This record gives sequence, structure tokens and C-alpha cells, in this order.
Amino acid sequence: MKYPKLRELKEAVRALIKGPYTTNFPYKPHTPYERFRGRPYFYEKDCIGCTACAQVCPAGAIQFEDKMINGKATRKFKISLDICIFCGQCQANCLTGKGIMLSQEFDLATTGKREDLKEEVEKELIICDCCQEIIAPLDQYLWVAERLGPLVFSNASLMLFYLRLPGLAMSDIPSSKSGEEFLRQDRIKILCPRCRREASLKS
Ligand code: SF4
Ligand code: SF4
Repeated sequence: MKYPKLRELKEAVRALIKGPYTTNFPYKPHTPYERFRGRPYFYEKDCIGCTACAQVCPAGAIQFEDKMINGKATRKFKISLDICIFCGQCQANCLTGKGIMLSQEFDLATTGKREDLKEEVEKELIICDCCQEIIAPLDQYLWVAERLGPLVFSNASLMLFYLRLPGLAMSDIPSSKSGEEFLRQDRIKILCPRCRREASLKS
């Protein structure tokens, strides 16, 4: 028979004095430690729709899909809590630092459907005035514009976006793009990088 090591004896004595390490959950509520990583929550107001969280999620628990319905483009995020491993990478890599944050919630067991363990967030997208390709989420554009300050006026698309917010720039200039041709007025539109390049070179 092997004698217990000193370290184990110390633990045993400590447990006798302090009581067991385990808690009485689920008979009594359990309060996790301060840095415990539990259920992640999206915070729509602080999320700019950049998709960084979805790209770093090792479990693939965050999915997103871009949709265009009646000329309005949206990006829908879906987080599947049933496959989330609570690693915290989404929070650590969130561009704003507050768009997705882990809580201390750990008791997610349910007898319901897996769909009950999904959460969705939707963000509006900006599309190119000419080719209708998606450029970026509206909130991300705004986030970038706010950080650039006066430098926003060095980028035509950003400047127009910023001026359109309070209605200082027209948003309904008819597209003059015919086939592959761009006309001069196409340059005063919100354009994707490809259309901006072509409009600058060809108009
Ligand atoms: S905590 Fe980890 S697994 Fe869960 S959503 Fe965030 S990155 Fe993905
Ligand atoms: S802002 Fe944060 S939560 Fe929102 S998509 Fe980007 S990384 Fe994800």
C-alpha cells in the first residue's frame, strides 16, 4: 500500500476544516468565480456586424448570412449555444470589445428544442449604388467614420455616407451605368472598391 503524498494530506486536512470544494447545485444556486466563462450574449447596440467573432470561433458556433430582400441588404448572425465551448475568443477579438460578451450563466440544459439555444442578431448592410454588391455593415461604416473624424472627407464613399445621414447629400441620383460604362455623376455615389476604381478611371 502506498502512503498518501504530503500534498494530498494537506488537501484532505483543508477540506475537513473548510468543507468540500463542491457545491450543492442544483439544489442550491451556484455562484461561479469572477472570471468564469459562461454563455455569450450579443449586444446589438455595440455590435457593428464586422464578423470577426464568427471568423475566430473555433467551434463554428457563430454563423452569419447576408441577404438582399427588396433592395434592402441585411446580415443575420446566429449563435448556437449548444455547440459553444465558452472559450471567450469571440469576446477577445470583438472589434468594439462590447459586441459580444460572455456572462456567468452556465446552466443551459433544456428539454426543449435545440432552436431554443440559438440567438440571432441582424445588421443592416450598405450596398454599392452601382453594382448593388455588399460593401459593409452600416454600423461598421459609422464606426470607422467616427474614428476618422475630418479624415472621412478623404474617402468619397465614406464622405457621402456621412453626409447622407443628416440628409446633406442626395441618395437617389439615378444610376448612369450602362453596361461597363461609368459616367461622371457615378463618382458621387457610395461605391464598392471595384466600382470606385472603374468610375475614377473610366468616367
Ligand atoms: S465562446 Fe468560443 S465557442 Fe462560444 S461563440 Fe465565442 S468563440 Fe465561439
Ligand atoms: S462587432 Fe463584435 S460581436 Fe459584432 S460582429 Fe464584430 S466581432 Fe462580432
